[in-house]
Amino acid sequence: MLETTHSLIKKVGKQLGLSDKQIADVLKINAEHRFEIELDNGKKFPAYRIQHNNKRGPYKGGIRFHPEVDLDEVRALATLMSLKTAAVGLPMGGGKGGIVVNPKELDKEELEELSRKYAKYLAPHIGPDKDVPAPDVNTNSQVIDWMLDEFESITSDSSHAAFTGKSVGRGGSLGRDTATGRGGVIVLRELLEKLGRSDKPLTYALQGFGNVGSFFSLSASQLRPQWTMIAATDSRGGIKDFDGLDAEEVNKFKSAGGALKDYGHGKMITNDELIGIKADVLVLAALDGAVTNNNMAQVQADIVVELANGPVNDEAYEYLTNRGVIVVPDILANAGGVIVSYLEWVQNKENRRMNEIEVNKELERYLARATTQIYNYSQKQKVSLKEAAVAIAIKRLI
Ligand code: NAD
Repeated sequence: MLETTHSLIKKVGKQLGLSDKQIADVLKINAEHRFEIELDNGKKFPAYRIQHNNKRGPYKGGIRFHPEVDLDEVRALATLMSLKTAAVGLPMGGGKGGIVVNPKELDKEELEELSRKYAKYLAPHIGPDKDVPAPDVNTNSQVIDWMLDEFESITSDSSHAAFTGKSVGRGGSLGRDTATGRGGVIVLRELLEKLGRSDKPLTYALQGFGNVGSFFSLSASQLRPQWTMIAATDSRGGIKDFDGLDAEEVNKFKSAGGALKDYGHGKMITNDELIGIKADVLVLAALDGAVTNNNMAQVQADIVVELANGPVNDEAYEYLTNRGVIVVPDILANAGGVIVSYLEWVQNKENRRMNEIEVNKELERYLARATTQIYNYSQKQKVSLKEAAVAIAIKRLI
């Protein structure tokens, strides 16, 4: 993933006529914090916080708890965050954190201790004007609340602006939960409008009915009721129904802890089948590397939305783009999360609250503007949407 991110920056940097020094500046990581967290019971976990670039504002980026977290992946995700915040015009930089852990194997007390120790170690290096972490895969507002509490108990800061993605009671923003999924719907809607396809009915298949994926489907059913979800999966597979799956019902089922394959309506499918399903749009909301040279030829959709970070690898991206498939790049498609994180940070710093309507309106404004800029650039320069987004970001970073 790091190699893919770097080669993309180098390629676009060359298209922009940048010098090797300027490209090296964009690639450069400012600081790396690598440490080990030891719980009182002796269990040990490697942990990272990578601070890539803060030219435009404090580092910003999520914290992932996952057994496959590795340093290069965190470096890549931190770099992508700098590109993302720049591409959508936020005055923030890019960072990312992670702990190599399977949180499902920890009880609640262990999870709290792990979260608090992570924040305690990083306390000298983060803060409202330095680095503002947020949730990512397997972390949620509870984890962030523990981290914030720990941070504020050992620093003099009480603004709650050191972390975003907090619970609303602890200074979190309304609309943050839904922001990434909702943002994906807004970006897709804006693009379809530019392509002259907004009035047509549309089917989509969704890989990864988790936090982001579930809110994509719920927001789509609210904002674009003419879109039909015909398949959805989680890590154990899922279901398809060409008559349409009801987002709210599927969501209720998932919230109760069920695996999608046991949903009971439609036909069971594997994750492999989902990639090749006949739908207008394939929405990838699980993890990176979902579409690679192993399965890229199976894709039948003519639009692929990268709602996760890096779900389409380099080779597959090029192959699909050459085939005329529009791949909506992650740094645009999933930027809704960081946009509302930024709004949360602003609310904390200014000690005010926005209601959900105001938050959603601002989210729309940022994403509609970014989508238009990126689309126009790609048309004018005859490059893919990803190259356009990266070009706009790099120009803002140098
Ligand atoms: P999550 O853990 O809530 O959801 C991930 C979902 O993917 C789960 O339902 C899991 O079962 C499923 N999954 C895992 N492997 C799968 C596979 N092989 N096939 C199908 N489904 C699979 O995580 P999330 O917060 O929804 O994040 C998903 C992606 O979105 C990540 O790449 C994350 O970095 C990215 N992202 C998240 C946010 C955010 O606000 N949470 C913001 C930007 C980007």
